[in-house]
Amino acid sequence: MSRHVVGIDLGTTNSAVAYMKNGKPMLIPSPRGQRIIPSVVMLDMNGQLLVGDVARSAQVAMPDRVIAAVKRQMGSHATVSMGGQEFSPTEVSAMILRELKGYVDREFGDGEKEAVITVPAYFTDEQRRATKQAGELAGFVVERIVNEPTAAALAFGLDRLEEEQHVLVYDLGGGTFDVSIVEMMNGILEVKASAGNNMLGGEDFDWLLVDWLATKFRKLHGLDPRRDIRAKSLLKEQAERIKCELSYAETAAVHLPVVTMKDNKPAGLSLDISRQEFTVLIDPLLLSTMDCVRRALQDAGLTTGDIQEVLLVGGSTRIPRVRELLVGMFGKEPHSEVDADEAVALGAAVQAGLKSGVLADSGLIVTDIAPFSLGIAVAGQRHGMKRTGIFHVIIPRNTVIPVTRTDRFYTALPGQRAAKVEIYQGEHEWVKNNYRLGEFLLTGIPVNWSGHEEIDVTYRYDLNGILEVTAKCVKNKKEQSLTVQDALERQSAEALARSSDKLRQLYEQAIQHEEDDIPWDEDEDIFAAEDEEETDERITPEELRRQLRLFDAKLEKLALMSDKEERKTIGQLRRKLKDALDAGDGDRMAQCLEMITDFLIEAQLREDT
Ligand code: AMP
Repeated sequence: MSRHVVGIDLGTTNSAVAYMKNGKPMLIPSPRGQRIIPSVVMLDMNGQLLVGDVARSAQVAMPDRVIAAVKRQMGSHATVSMGGQEFSPTEVSAMILRELKGYVDREFGDGEKEAVITVPAYFTDEQRRATKQAGELAGFVVERIVNEPTAAALAFGLDRLEEEQHVLVYDLGGGTFDVSIVEMMNGILEVKASAGNNMLGGEDFDWLLVDWLATKFRKLHGLDPRRDIRAKSLLKEQAERIKCELSYAETAAVHLPVVTMKDNKPAGLSLDISRQEFTVLIDPLLLSTMDCVRRALQDAGLTTGDIQEVLLVGGSTRIPRVRELLVGMFGKEPHSEVDADEAVALGAAVQAGLKSGVLADSGLIVTDIAPFSLGIAVAGQRHGMKRTGIFHVIIPRNTVIPVTRTDRFYTALPGQRAAKVEIYQGEHEWVKNNYRLGEFLLTGIPVNWSGHEEIDVTYRYDLNGILEVTAKCVKNKKEQSLTVQDALERQSAEALARSSDKLRQLYEQAIQHEEDDIPWDEDEDIFAAEDEEETDERITPEELRRQLRLFDAKLEKLALMSDKEERKTIGQLRRKLKDALDAGDGDRMAQCLEMITDFLIEAQLREDT
């Protein structure tokens, strides 16, 4: 059985799959010959799932049976409704990926399929994880998650291995915006900096136009058409058409005899909109993308004069104002040799080729960066006061990955036997404003004065964006680790097993309506299987008990020196501690340990100030 690795662009608006054929990336078309398909899913009246053009064309007629632009919700806990059933964004993305897997199976026949899937560089860890899960739900072995601008640069760079230059990739798609600065030198592609907004794209321009059209309609008829779900869908469809037309023409006409009904009579809209009017609507958003460009340049330590090529990626870069702004900033025309719609999928295929080994002799090497800072919650001085919840960065954003960094920390309490390692990503100085990735306890620290025990915390961040954190007590070498991705996947394994069942049922149901069925392989349910093999080696119950008893003695002493309010809190904590010990419940004991550690650190800090 041969091994195939394909590259997939799972876009907000369109998706595509490609692979390396005779040293060149090639798209795998749908059976109807389409190179890219709309990322739109529909559950029809017969319970059959339809993906792509057919689903897209049903959007206006059956908006409650169709889901589009689900990528914008990836990684969130929201659900989307389709044909009266609720789905997670991951499940809907899995449906799109499964459609693409059908094309791959047709091309290569049965057998295991590995995939490299692209995501916006500015996707968070959670959004990346959701994408990986969608791929695995669809039956792919997801080899790597790659940043879209990096993929685009790869598609561009494959034919320019000898050139030395800095390329700025400006990627404005349907739902996300990314800018990356890539250095190419002797076949090595190094991403220097990335910036972006994962909630900004062509969809936003459409909705601004919908609002504009709705305002015109309301002035004319005295009612808001957006309240009628069908009218809203119709306006959205028209808005996208107008937007695309205005990329080529100075004005676009709207002629809709029926938008909705008013007093049982059709109420319509006919008007013209100019490119200028449209530009005024979207300009604040486009200008915000230019702020990101400036930030990326600054992070890379470059100026506009250092950029030899500006590469446009994503359908929304066809808007003339985008070009105009970039020409204004860089003083040169952007590059348009690589197809803006296909560049990401083609680049993903190049990355897949590097992975599978078919490009091993090309001399091409790619390095990527961490798009966010990664760090730990610490206590320390801020604004003249001792505070907890300060974000201490261990791996700064834009660090080239893979990377391993170690920082040294010290115990905050006298006699502190355990240290909580709280892992965050983000850029804010306070952890509460950043995104929490996980936490664990390092126990068995020798008893000593506060600040006298050293703890080394090591962050290892690999090419897939998987973070492993290790904390080690320097004196006795005791250490504890957590792989963030594994930990998070463990938490969501049950939800994934449920999703897998749900999708299986949906396809089985559809198979009854469809002769050309797609098999769902039992062995592909890998999340559940992995979960069974997981073992939790974090902390033994005996150790927990010993630590809690120590803390109890500490709390008792502290109560003697405390005021009434604090004594009350201590009393509550000791009751919780006793209940957890009596119940012998590991989770509750660990929870208590954390609460008391926090409380004691706070108390110590108050005393110090
Ligand atoms: P992508 O996510 O790269 O597939 O880009 C899709 C987005 O590009 C959608 O919002 C499309 O409406 C938009 N788009 C495609 N063609 C044009 C065009 N000619 N002018 C403006 N926007 C376009």
